[in-house]
Amino acid sequence: MNAALTLTDVTLLHGDGDETVRALDEVDLEVRPGELVAIVGPSGSGKSSLLAVAGALTKPTSGSARLGETDLTAASARELTRIRRERLGFVFQSGNLVPALTSLDQVRLPLAFGRADTGRDPLELLTAVGMEHKARRRPHELSGGERQRVGIARALVTRPDVLLVDEPTAALDRQRSQDIVGLLAHEAHERGVATVMVTHDHDVLHHCDRVLEMVDGRLGPHGMM
Ligand code: ADP
Ligand code: MG
Repeated sequence: MNAALTLTDVTLLHGDGDETVRALDEVDLEVRPGELVAIVGPSGSGKSSLLAVAGALTKPTSGSARLGETDLTAASARELTRIRRERLGFVFQSGNLVPALTSLDQVRLPLAFGRADTGRDPLELLTAVGMEHKARRRPHELSGGERQRVGIARALVTRPDVLLVDEPTAALDRQRSQDIVGLLAHEAHERGVATVMVTHDHDVLHHCDRVLEMVDGRLGPHGMM
């Protein structure tokens, strides 16, 4: 099957002159539909930068990023907006919620912008992430881990081709971490969502189809770097 996400020879430099940081260094990555790939590695090694390039939030300095057949590095700003809404799910470390909205409205919101007929029910997704009892709460009433769980439900409601998740279990206890990554694996395997998850949490890696490691901006097999 064709890859859902393809990064080819991606290099990303931050800053300039003596201050240049090579956040990504000749990274290659292919993720197939239905695959859950974990990326581990030390802080500052480039994991969030990789998600930003894959999610069309950052253009790489060189190399290319493709979503299916679409070249993200060649797409217009207008096309990228549509792609982010309809084909990509992005779960930030912070949850990135809208301050004024309840949990349930956060999950409903993407349906107002993209396709409304995705067949996913916002309340069911909120239940799947264990947040139905806080459906009427606003972000300032939620913990960091709870915000991120709402962010996961919101990312899934549009049925994205590719889901990018940054540290989903960092603020969760052991059992909840298993539940959330189990849900990501289920969504990947049952619905074909190509998922890239950055994590520090080695206890959840058994849910993943592949584990890669990032060191100093370079991506390779886990344990080989
Ligand atoms: P990780 O998510 O693995 O902790 P990041 O991708 O956030 O790593 O960062 C990789 C490197 O790029 C780090 O050295 C970081 O300081 C640097 N970096 C990240 N974002 C920026 C930015 N916007 N400007 C300058 N340097 C950045
Ligand atoms: Mg990070």
